[in-house]
Amino acid sequence: GPDFRQSLYCHLLCGLIFREEIQLVSSTFAHSIVHAFRTLEQVWEELCVDIREGILTSRITFPSVRSAMAKLLKPNPELADLIRRKISGLSNWYGLIPELFPNVKYIYGIMTGSMEHYLKKLRHYAGDVPLISADYGSSEGWIGANINPNVPTESTTYAVLPNIGYFEFIPLKENVEEQVHDTGDANILSMEPKPVSLTEVKIGEEYEVIVTSFAGLYRYRLGDVVKVMGFHNSTPELKFICRRNLMLTVNIDKNTEKDLQQAVEEAAKLIAEEKQEVIDFSSHVDMWTDPGHYVIFWEISGEVSDEVLKECCNCLDRSFVDAGYVSSRKVNAIGPLELRILRRGTFQKVLDHYLGLGAAVSQFKTPRCVGPT
Ligand code: AMP
Repeated sequence: GPDFRQSLYCHLLCGLIFREEIQLVSSTFAHSIVHAFRTLEQVWEELCVDIREGILTSRITFPSVRSAMAKLLKPNPELADLIRRKISGLSNWYGLIPELFPNVKYIYGIMTGSMEHYLKKLRHYAGDVPLISADYGSSEGWIGANINPNVPTESTTYAVLPNIGYFEFIPLKENVEEQVHDTGDANILSMEPKPVSLTEVKIGEEYEVIVTSFAGLYRYRLGDVVKVMGFHNSTPELKFICRRNLMLTVNIDKNTEKDLQQAVEEAAKLIAEEKQEVIDFSSHVDMWTDPGHYVIFWEISGEVSDEVLKECCNCLDRSFVDAGYVSSRKVNAIGPLELRILRRGTFQKVLDHYLGLGAAVSQFKTPRCVGPT
């Protein structure tokens, strides 16, 4: 289908029609799975009407999609009643997936890195169905396989596939190696760190991944930070840490995507007590104020009092524990953190914006840090 929203509606409808045959629920990234079930929360009554009457809602407008669905859709009031009963029996949508799809064995998709935020919601929908984090790859090439799928998703590691490309690793700890090049008339100090090869990485150290691929990329910096957790035979097992480029920084402070995610997780506990959740989040460094400060954007599922939001804001501020941030905050070299609550549906608009530019929904990742524009 040419329209993602219409396709998603039909995927959900097909899932319900063939509910007993569904063995697993999967998408490239966990974000899409959560997005699909959030959509189901909104459209389930319409889906039930379609199933009851055997007629597709008029909101699906593409003729090719309508004719494909017409072949599958027959009036089935019993199924519509069953789905209505099952959904009505749920408490706050907990265990939605096994309730609708009784034969699902597991849920599969990338759940580490920037996808960790969606795990809580996914677990809620999944009930007792196991979550399995998929492999580590990118458009530029595949990197590692999750060869221990039964470990909890937070501890997932990826064994590098040593024959799929040539991998090098830039050490991030002692990464500033002073190399003096003799260029003839001047000595230039190069700050470029020296990469190590696959078998030279050390357990416990963090690295940025470089790929040379059969497709023709030569020493391409992926921009991902990984930590070596061990070895499988001679190939390293990597834990995905974060994207390297996201760095909230005003002066000497440095906070990564991972730091941001942990701060949001901590502060989100305060609204969880009010039965609300952070649907999605992003951040920004505001340098227009003096001193500059961090801005965190939240979209929340419902209403939360100003009191609680103030506490969330303070909690976020305290949760950035990087020494540069803490000391700068103490002397007011960085201003108080600002929490901005976004209108409901903002992140849906962000997704639509990227899709409008031609991005693939299966590869969508919410931008975790945005510039002034
Ligand atoms: P794309 O090229 O759009 O498919 O995105 C590739 C990027 O997604 C990688 O460079 C990582 O930053 C991220 N990514 C891919 N696989 C994983 C994974 N298993 N865990 C965490 N992040 C991942």
